[in-house]
Amino acid sequence: MANKSRPPTKPYPKPPASDGDGNHIRNEILLGLPPREADLLIPKLELMRLKTHHVLHEPGDTLKSAYFCNSGLISILSVFPDGKSVEVGLVGKEGFVGIPLVAGFRTAATRAIAQIEATAFRVDGEWFRGALLQCPTIERRLQQFAQIMAMQTTQIAACNRLHEVEERLARWLLMSADRIGSNSVPLTQEFLAQMLGTRRSSVSVAAGILQRAGLITYTRGDVKIIERKKLEEAACECYEIMQGQVAKWRGEAR
Ligand SMILES: [Zn+2]
Repeated sequence: MANKSRPPTKPYPKPPASDGDGNHIRNEILLGLPPREADLLIPKLELMRLKTHHVLHEPGDTLKSAYFCNSGLISILSVFPDGKSVEVGLVGKEGFVGIPLVAGFRTAATRAIAQIEATAFRVDGEWFRGALLQCPTIERRLQQFAQIMAMQTTQIAACNRLHEVEERLARWLLMSADRIGSNSVPLTQEFLAQMLGTRRSSVSVAAGILQRAGLITYTRGDVKIIERKKLEEAACECYEIMQGQVAKWRGEAR
């Protein structure tokens, strides 16, 4: 007689629920690793609490550490010598910071900054580069994430050039809300302008349009999504294109 409590097929490797110090793992790349790779990597992770605007690395920095984002939001920025910057990628608990290491490189080409308070599991960059050679599953997952980030960056570059500020703001709010799992995004206008590569006054006008339409409320340092469906309609098509591509690739990777 079959044992009803036993699953009919071989179970997927049990995900590590926490690191050695009892910190809950939410990062989607770390969850569900095969036991052999989890046993190698998890003891090397250190949970970092990142304050808002904490810089993880600047362009040209040696990547001494890599980070598996566990909560919050990390922005990837393209930075110019005059100090101007624009966001070219967003990383939440689905992702990883330190992609050049996956290709065997050592230096960063972008700035990575905690957009809001975040937690991340830090791992030593040099150790990790070597460990990847023994961890085919994690290497594959990071290659897939790197491809998703490249696609996101390409789309955002086109978006920044072609779409109106209020459409971009709506797209950006949806992307942020998805990654932090909340409809409340704590942000200042100044930072938002930096993210969208536009003037603060333009962000103010764009936020006013979305607020008057009843899609968001916008108070000092905090944006709340009120009508998610309508905000999706107000966003440019970039949001849907990126969502669709990620879903398609995830299906193909199964
Ligand atoms: Zn767009």
